[in-house]
Amino acid sequence: MAKDYYSDLGVNRNASAEEIKEAYKRLAKQYHPDVSREKDAEEKFKTISEAYKVLSDTQKRANYDQFGDAAERFSGFSGFEGFTHSEFDFSDLFGDNGFGGAFSDLFGQGFTRAQQRPGGPARGADIAVNLEVSFEEAVHGATKEFTIEHDTTCTKCRGERTAEKDGKQKCAACNGSGVQESTRQTFFGVISTRTTCGKCRGEGTVITKPCQKCGGRGKEKTREKVSVKIPAGIDTGYRLRLHGQGNAGKNGGQTGDMYVLVFVKPHEEFKRDHDDIFIEVPLSFPQATLGGKIEVQTISGTAKVTVPAGTQTGTIFRLRGEGVKNFRTGKNGDQYVKIILKTPEKLSKKQKELFEELAKEEGKKGKNK
Ligand SMILES: [Zn+2]
Ligand SMILES: [Zn+2]
Repeated sequence: MAKDYYSDLGVNRNASAEEIKEAYKRLAKQYHPDVSREKDAEEKFKTISEAYKVLSDTQKRANYDQFGDAAERFSGFSGFEGFTHSEFDFSDLFGDNGFGGAFSDLFGQGFTRAQQRPGGPARGADIAVNLEVSFEEAVHGATKEFTIEHDTTCTKCRGERTAEKDGKQKCAACNGSGVQESTRQTFFGVISTRTTCGKCRGEGTVITKPCQKCGGRGKEKTREKVSVKIPAGIDTGYRLRLHGQGNAGKNGGQTGDMYVLVFVKPHEEFKRDHDDIFIEVPLSFPQATLGGKIEVQTISGTAKVTVPAGTQTGTIFRLRGEGVKNFRTGKNGDQYVKIILKTPEKLSKKQKELFEELAKEEGKKGKNK
């Protein structure tokens, strides 16, 4: 939700700098966590402090009036390094995404949805793959190829675990039922207990001549190249589901699915927040002073921005529709350009003379005042 700094301070949008300062002082006294007895004082104090930080700064306030808190979204990006897999909290990402709490299972052993009947068909486990894509690939879409290792049905025994006709025999311990029944005479009468047969593990059959290719597992590890289409506009946390690319099922059961989790590598110049793009553009003193047209890099090429004479550092321009096209709505985000004034560090002799000349001129101006 967009922040409303004015209502946070309880002033109206055309409040003077003095009124803003007064409002902040009054509220700060009321909510300062060291003295306040109000509930949520600390939270409230943070809110009013943030509002004051922006509204007390002429440049920040002007940006805020024009673009809302977009200006503030420029900051806080500097420390963004992307995710490393170990510290990534999947529960945040998939918390209420219809995935339930299954994610931890997915990364461990894989999960099987239906309780399997011994000896009956069982669905194969789902597998998960992390896929890193570049900033551009996420924005424009791409087809990615990578290799996965998953269980497939053994080609020699076709999952039967034996390739010989007489390689499978009815389990003698349970007579093919998969369960063992035992009866006990107790004080209350005869109690019978049914347990899964220990010899055939409920299968009802035992393999006497295991398939030589898969060692009687019925499946084999296969490395396979898969190709995944990355839709344009996706971001870190997006998950693709590939039906039937997981592990093979048992006894004719369905093959599991593969989930591809997308991680987007950060870009050197662009920062992205949902569909909006942020970029900082350096501007020289003469350019900022005299104004003119500058060329700004966008995700689809370049755009021309007219910089008015007397542009200050920190000024933000919006390039409407130059952001990322949302893959669900088809609407484009915007690009925000923040001007950073560059102070020259090395001057040529000529430049130095000109700056000195300028300084003299400034001095005269000062005296005339
Ligand atoms: Zn086999
Ligand atoms: Zn048995």
